[in-house]
Order: sequence, then structure tokens, then C-alpha cells
Amino acid sequence: MISQETLEKIKQMLLEEKAKILRKLQKNMEEVNDHRESRGVGDEVDSAVALEMESLVNALSGMEAARLRQIEDALRRIEEGTYGYCKECGEPIEEGRLLAKPFATLCVSCKEAEERKRY
Ligand SMILES: [Zn+2]
Repeated sequence: MISQETLEKIKQMLLEEKAKILRKLQKNMEEVNDHRESRGVGDEVDSAVALEMESLVNALSGMEAARLRQIEDALRRIEEGTYGYCKECGEPIEEGRLLAKPFATLCVSCKEAEERKRY
């Protein structure tokens, strides 16, 4: 059983991570806008550069968006009281594992079994 103290700690970690990602996304967006403004429109090379940068930001946003979903999911599970239990076998996940990997939804043995299946 995961202690309330650990749960609070993980919740704080998740909220901090969430804030960090949101700040990063905002910064990326501002950089793309700055780039557009300083370069102006019409030059073919410049618009190619701008396009490339935009797809870079989009790709990054995709990764960050996936991470955000994981965070939201973990926070929801904390609220529901299902956080910290293995999705496969229902056994509590070790606290050390949760602190290292707050998004873990499987206990170590189920995770290992899953990895053996995959490779
Ligand atoms: Zn398990």
C-alpha cells in the first residue's frame, strides 16, 4: 500500500512536470512567432526555414502532448484512488518504482512479462 506522504510527493512531481511542459510549449510557440516576424514573408528560402521549424515544433508538441496525457491520467488515478496499483494483476506497485517512474501502471513482474512478450 502506497503511503499518503508518497502519494502527495508524486502528485507534486506530476504537477511540476505539467507546468514545465506547458511553459515549454508556450515558449516554442513564441519562438515560431518571433521567427516569422523577424524574417518577413515572401523569400522562398526563409519560408522553407520557417516551415521546417514549425514541423519541428509540431513534432515536439506531439511528444509533449503524449507526456501531458500521461500526467493527466496519473493525476486522475490519484484522485480516484486507483493510483499505484498494477493494471495487470492489481497488486500495489513498489513506492520506489513509482517515485522513479510516476507514470508506471504495471508492477515490475508484469512489466517484465510484457517486455518478454514484445521482444
Ligand atoms: Zn502486476
